[in-house]
Amino acid sequence: MEDFESAADQDARSGRRALVVGAGIAGLAAALRLHQQGWDVVIVERASTRRSSGYLLNLHGPGYDAAERLGLVPALTRRDIGFFTSILVHADGREKLRIPAAVTEAAVGDRALSLFRGDLESALYDAVAEFADIRFGTTPQAIVQTPGEVTVTLSDGTRLQGDLLVGADGVHSRVRELVFGIESDYFVDLGHMVGAFPLHTVPEHISEGFGTTFIGPGRTAAVMNLGPQRSSAFFTYRCPDPNAELSLGAQPALTQAFGDLGGGVAEALHQLDPATAYFDTVGQIVTDRWSRDRVVLLGDAAWCVTVFAGYGAALALDGADRLGSALAAHEEDIPAALAAWEASLRPEVRKRQALARKGISRFAPPSRTHVWAGELMLRAIQLPGIRTLVRRSIQRANN
Ligand SMILES: Cc1cc2nc3c(=O)[nH]c(=O)nc-3n(C[C@H](O)[C@H](O)[C@H](O)COP(=O)(O)OP(=O)(O)OC[C@H]3O[C@@H](n4cnc5c(N)ncnc54)[C@H](O)[C@@H]3O)c2cc1C
Repeated sequence: MEDFESAADQDARSGRRALVVGAGIAGLAAALRLHQQGWDVVIVERASTRRSSGYLLNLHGPGYDAAERLGLVPALTRRDIGFFTSILVHADGREKLRIPAAVTEAAVGDRALSLFRGDLESALYDAVAEFADIRFGTTPQAIVQTPGEVTVTLSDGTRLQGDLLVGADGVHSRVRELVFGIESDYFVDLGHMVGAFPLHTVPEHISEGFGTTFIGPGRTAAVMNLGPQRSSAFFTYRCPDPNAELSLGAQPALTQAFGDLGGGVAEALHQLDPATAYFDTVGQIVTDRWSRDRVVLLGDAAWCVTVFAGYGAALALDGADRLGSALAAHEEDIPAALAAWEASLRPEVRKRQALARKGISRFAPPSRTHVWAGELMLRAIQLPGIRTLVRRSIQRANN
């Protein structure tokens, strides 16, 4: 089946048209921002339906500011989970120390949101569903550019033309592969795995409003009880051969790495459903260009900063918002708009990628001494003077 948009169809459409590949946070945010300034938007998503699965993520600093500019804060505030008390535990689950919710809140400030990834995606989806033409269950097979337009051929035989194509299809981007080249040229493996998934049954051993975290040499496991439909588990560990872990699969690999831990970890792992779990290698995408003519990469497809930065969703929103501004400022010249956009965003992405590489030792300390030093830091944060220093350093990172 080939569905090729005719010239008459193109004449009939008003204004400019963006083809967005990927209905994740970056793609939906770009669709929203471009629609807000008069573009027609078609979204192409490989999954057959919407994915609403989740892990916990935080939005503060420029990520919160971008959500505000996109008009999302009221919808996100309704879904905000808020801060919770973290309990650092021994391997058998016994408590070592606790960091009350108020301490985290004082450090991060009140312009912050704690959300399930799926809830952020839902808020964006609700905002774009009315206007965007969303094609589920299909993926780009070829992308051809001429000076005036870009044409994408999809796996279902459809061919679409537009003025701009946004590749927001995540760290393993197909758009990047088609336009820039194979993933191995851009993927920088950080030598760790990450797994995160929602808990359908609230963890019994942990009181509501609390999360337990075990940090040992080379690994971290966290289980959070934030009530029904709000509880989740998070794991990350160092590993020499990420591909072997991927072949093993999420549950066997995570059980092998964390099955010895007490404190509700085993129960959480029993609940892992591969359909809703995130399980992948941790790697950054490093490219010297995010656009080629009328094709631009956005979000993890362009710059994946990784979970160790805790900032990818924030950058996806900020990047989408800035993309809209750049296209508005250079209406007649898309390549110039994309170059200006990239120049405005590069320093922030570089900073976040560097912070992520530095942050690895917080999630997977190289030795027992590093574990001990990290605990000392966490104890110190509770002292009022140190708390102020931490707040200032978070503010500095966000400026
Ligand atoms: C455990 C964990 C915790 C995190 N915590 C935080 C945090 O606290 N704060 C924060 O800001 N960030 C956090 N992040 C990072 C953040 O979740 C990501 O950076 C962000 O979701 C990236 O969004 P994206 O839209 O670029 O990519 P994705 O979310 O990966 O979306 C890509 C979309 O494209 C679709 N797609 C993929 N391939 C194709 C294809 N070939 N054709 C069509 N469609 C395709 C996918 O199905 C998906 O819908 C965390 C990440 C993890 C894993």
